[in-house]
Amino acid sequence: MSAWNVSVLTGATSDTEPTLLVNFGTAKYIFNASEGMGRAWLQSHHSIRKTKGLFVTAAGTHRCGGVPGLLMLCADAAVPAIDIVGPYGLMHYLATMRSYTYRSTMVVKAVEAPTALVSAQPAASPSPVFKDENLSVYSIPLYPSVDGVDIGEPSTRPLKRKRSASPPTASKRSTPPLIDRTVESTSPVSPTLSVQARRENFNPTSLTGADAQEWRKLMLQEMFPMQPPPKADPSTSKGAKRRANALQEPADEPPPPQNMTFAPDRKYARLPGLVAGGGVDPATLPTLGYLCVGPSVRGKFDVKKAEELGVRGPMRGRLTKGETVTFEVDDGQGGKIQRTVRPEECVGPSEAPQAVLILDVPTPAHIPSLLASFTDSPFFAKYRSKDENFRKEHPLHAVYHLCGEGVLEDERYKKFMNGFSDETHHLISSREHTADKITFTRSALVQAKLHQLDAEMFPLPKSKQSPPRDITSITGLPAKAAPAEPNTLLHVRPVRPPVQDELAREDEFNPFVAAGSLPELSDSVREKVAAVKAAVAERMGRNSPATAPGDDVVITPLGTGSAVPTKMRNVSGTLIQIPGHGSILLDCGEGTWGQLVRSFGDEPDGVWQVMRDLKCIFLSHMHGDHHMGLSKILMMRAKMDPPPPEPLYVVGLRSHLMYILERQELEDHGLSNPNGVVMILSDALNWRFPRPYGRNQVEDEPFMNQDRSYEHAKAMCRALGLSSFTTVDVAHRIRCYGVVIRHNDGWGITFSADTMPTDNLVKAGRDVTLLIHESSMSPEEEDLAREKAHSTSAQAIDIGRRMRAKYLLLTHFSARYPGMPPRQGDGFSGGPIIGIAFDFARIRMGDMWKLNAYLPAIQHTFNEFGEDDEVEIDLTKLQ
Ligand SMILES: [Zn+2]
Ligand SMILES: [Zn+2]
Repeated sequence: MSAWNVSVLTGATSDTEPTLLVNFGTAKYIFNASEGMGRAWLQSHHSIRKTKGLFVTAAGTHRCGGVPGLLMLCADAAVPAIDIVGPYGLMHYLATMRSYTYRSTMVVKAVEAPTALVSAQPAASPSPVFKDENLSVYSIPLYPSVDGVDIGEPSTRPLKRKRSASPPTASKRSTPPLIDRTVESTSPVSPTLSVQARRENFNPTSLTGADAQEWRKLMLQEMFPMQPPPKADPSTSKGAKRRANALQEPADEPPPPQNMTFAPDRKYARLPGLVAGGGVDPATLPTLGYLCVGPSVRGKFDVKKAEELGVRGPMRGRLTKGETVTFEVDDGQGGKIQRTVRPEECVGPSEAPQAVLILDVPTPAHIPSLLASFTDSPFFAKYRSKDENFRKEHPLHAVYHLCGEGVLEDERYKKFMNGFSDETHHLISSREHTADKITFTRSALVQAKLHQLDAEMFPLPKSKQSPPRDITSITGLPAKAAPAEPNTLLHVRPVRPPVQDELAREDEFNPFVAAGSLPELSDSVREKVAAVKAAVAERMGRNSPATAPGDDVVITPLGTGSAVPTKMRNVSGTLIQIPGHGSILLDCGEGTWGQLVRSFGDEPDGVWQVMRDLKCIFLSHMHGDHHMGLSKILMMRAKMDPPPPEPLYVVGLRSHLMYILERQELEDHGLSNPNGVVMILSDALNWRFPRPYGRNQVEDEPFMNQDRSYEHAKAMCRALGLSSFTTVDVAHRIRCYGVVIRHNDGWGITFSADTMPTDNLVKAGRDVTLLIHESSMSPEEEDLAREKAHSTSAQAIDIGRRMRAKYLLLTHFSARYPGMPPRQGDGFSGGPIIGIAFDFARIRMGDMWKLNAYLPAIQHTFNEFGEDDEVEIDLTKLQ
């Protein structure tokens, strides 16, 4: 009973940011959900079903990039309800997900923690920002300090934060408004807003302050409409209803609106700014620390002692609860006397609740505010004390430190760490002190096997097996400081030192890199590999290398799975590099940044050169697996110094472009940087005629100007040496575009995006060199493919043949096929040369025939892995 532990799910690497799981037998609480954490979770031994709470330390992509994916995974794993807690800005962040994150089966309650500094109210005992039978969680907002201001003074104004870790200077930037009450998403929307919203010319963008917050809340209620769906079986409906009621707190409040009672297209209007008149400076938003206090454990009831004292029946329960009881007993002489029994007479001493602290300290400028919180507040000070008496009542088993650059080396921070009891463990997650090991080791293992087939086409993913700086090299840290490596498990109750989680799955790749070796191929695979290699070499010797236009264009699939990532495949993303001209990224699902880093390396001539060359990101449609990695890429690019030499054109739907504008309110996406992001509406580039938007547009939005988009597209084509870039409406469940790219040198590429077979693509993409076509389903699954508005591999091949494409690259494979898709196209002749896309492959267009020749050996390699990806969720629900 009451046993709990904390495990490190992911670390600070190129694939993920740190995520902690607080585990009780009956419930799980997640701390931070960066991009890639959902994929890491699916591959771990941890179950998703018991998820109860999600706590984020900052409202931004680094800490929340995986939130939409995680919420949908939870909903599809039948999690009934989840609480999300975060700092000011969380509600806005969640509302920006409204056009692609929705589930009617899960209740989501979002809470923004108070923004006032703990030290501003030193006397007050804080109230928890979250409380249930397992945990009481207290939030500690941290702001960066400004020169000349003593943050230790009680202050009601959060201080301003610099963008970088350089010494802070005073700034004239605006600060976010203080919201000192806890803001919850599930309370009813104000009647005045409902009245306003019914007006014909209502525009939510104009809302400010509390009304704006109400609007964000309403958006969240639209995404997760609060009530489990009615069950068909009447015997279970009662239970479902009771559960639904129990989840709505407080119970006497009217239920929130099930359907918006006003114009539904307002959902598609741009969100209100974070602060009226120009938005909030993203750099002034706080990060949150969390103190997690577990349940206190009552002492053991001594039955023998109780009997001796004459304690009977319900009095035992009262004593266990800590009450003193008085009752009558025989005095031994025929009379009665009163007897009073105190709990300690028959109940053992209760155990003080254990606690852990989770801190997110992005820059050294945040240290003063952290110190102030732990010195000025008597409540928090008790947890940071060497006094044994305090420790008895307020034991703190561990502190998890998420540290930005320079924090851990800062003398003030060391002093802060050393202020805790010597018994407290310090687990540190920081990019500078963490080896950049590969997180998704199965996919890397596959690549390492294929590497032995063709080292150029299947390069090894890039990793760093030792940290830039070792934690042990830092002097003055507490004795119990250690890195928070993934799979570090810490039992909090019963108390134990941190250990390596024995249930963690085996690392299938990093040990090979560390040993400088490659995984061995089995005899049969080695034979096959030798045979196809010989055949390819023979053909190369036979034919003089004739070159065709576009031969040197390189296709790098970064994610070749559909809907949800698996061990083998990440979600959509394909990079096209045109030597001498730049590159184009076709879609970018969650984790695409990490895939780019693994593919090219975190070096100036690696991923950063790719960023400098990147001139176009094309977004096909608003399904999460195709665009959720966009923010991270734009943010990383926006940080580049010097900035890239040319602008980055982002071609997308209105909802994509609005999403960028809304995200920019929270963090810099590079919209106004030199050579920053230029937005192009994909509807303006339609192969037949520009497609207008109707009722969804509620105001005159500058980014919706089709003529301007067209002009920008011309500039983009000049930059890339293209003769045309046209979008093609394809047949998916929502508005979705494929694209046809034709180059001045005479080659062309068509990308299908997600679609059923469509003649539009055949006509618009006629005679291209390469068709990249989705192939979600196997040939036997035509009905399912139609239902989900996808294609089978056989249908994709048919489209390629009718289009007269020279090459066909199949991609976007359903998660039910973790390995090779089933054999297709046997007996087919006269059509395109077919290849199958793998994450990290690097395919010169002129080498497509080689990829085709390798297929039998690849099939053999894959067969050895089997299909052991257990997927917890019902994948048929996903697109
Ligand atoms: Zn898709
Ligand atoms: Zn889709």
